[in-house]
Amino acid sequence: MRLSKRAAGLETSLTRELFGKAKQYQDVIDLTLGDPDLMPSELIREAACEAIRQGKTRYSVNAGLPEARRQIADCFAGEYGFSPDPEKEVMLTVGGMGGLYLSLAALVDPGDEVLVLGPYYVNYIQMIRLCGGTPKIVYGREENGFVVKKEELEAEVTPKTVAMIVNSPSNPAGVVLERETLEDYADFARAHGLFVLSDEVYQTLLYDGRKPVSIINCRDMRERCVVIESMSKRFAMTGYRCGFAVGPEPLIAAMTKMQENIVSCTPLPSQYAAICAYSRCREDHHIRDEFEKRRNYIFEAVNEIPGLSCLKPAGTFYLFVNIKESGMDSVSFAYRLLEQEHLAIVPGVTYGQAYDHYIRIAFTLPVEVLKEAVRRLSRFMAGLKN
Ligand code: PMP
Repeated sequence: MRLSKRAAGLETSLTRELFGKAKQYQDVIDLTLGDPDLMPSELIREAACEAIRQGKTRYSVNAGLPEARRQIADCFAGEYGFSPDPEKEVMLTVGGMGGLYLSLAALVDPGDEVLVLGPYYVNYIQMIRLCGGTPKIVYGREENGFVVKKEELEAEVTPKTVAMIVNSPSNPAGVVLERETLEDYADFARAHGLFVLSDEVYQTLLYDGRKPVSIINCRDMRERCVVIESMSKRFAMTGYRCGFAVGPEPLIAAMTKMQENIVSCTPLPSQYAAICAYSRCREDHHIRDEFEKRRNYIFEAVNEIPGLSCLKPAGTFYLFVNIKESGMDSVSFAYRLLEQEHLAIVPGVTYGQAYDHYIRIAFTLPVEVLKEAVRRLSRFMAGLKN
């Protein structure tokens, strides 16, 4: 069958491959996907069910229910310190993914380049390609805490570059960018006339009392930045497929127009759940607290395993572990670990060619299960020495 070059050019995801293979083993511990095991609060679930029971299940306007946008804008104002116009600068999307794709589709023409900072969320690359653009990767190095420096960005920017994607807290390294770095990136974006897509879907999963900072609050960035947010991680609502974008009016208008032609709108029961989440569950911190507890455990435990090391993630629920001493590449490591120990993780090469001596562990299971995962990983590492 003849498929479009775009479709044929998409690579299959190693994450999904490992996730699929993990299903073969009954006693597998699967730490591949970034899908929290926690449930959304009872209130949120009930709001979605109630919408269905009441038949609030038709289409909404493309940008989402006005009340949902109003609640989101209100919550945003409290957390970011400025109030976006709920009518013009906020739209609901089908997850953070929907927001990312629509903003790229609205900004990128064939031949345009988009800067992506490694280690990166793999879907960025595929989405840029789907839009006919070219991803330009700038690799953050472990000795710099996986933070890309402004000079490194300068080395990759060309007249064809139209945008850059910033992801903080980041998947897979759990890096939270400091205000100073964000200011540098903002200066860089302004100097080169770039638009910034700020993926902040993990913005509420911040540890050690950190407060969120966003590039949209840097000087003159409101006119050249879109914040992509999601209910997936904050409220453990991955399957609701609900996210939002906050950005300048012309961009949100273009994205809204495109959304009509792709998915119409975010599913209605999910929009009602979102209204409940942002109006009644804003201050819930139990999801963050649970992940912080897990982070504290797994970070220490993995660092104690001879041959493995990792930086402490400041946010998210991922550990990006250096496996260099194993002498294996990340794909062989992942497959052997799965076959021998029935423990599934993601090879680091998924997040950029430069990361073939890393693995990503998603600590999306309870501490008791993580303890067994650490035992298996430890046994695996000990076995390599013999
Ligand atoms: N951005 C990043 C960095 C992610 O890790 C994810 C999900 N794993 C998303 C965006 C999209 O999530 P969702 O579409 O569920 O909101």
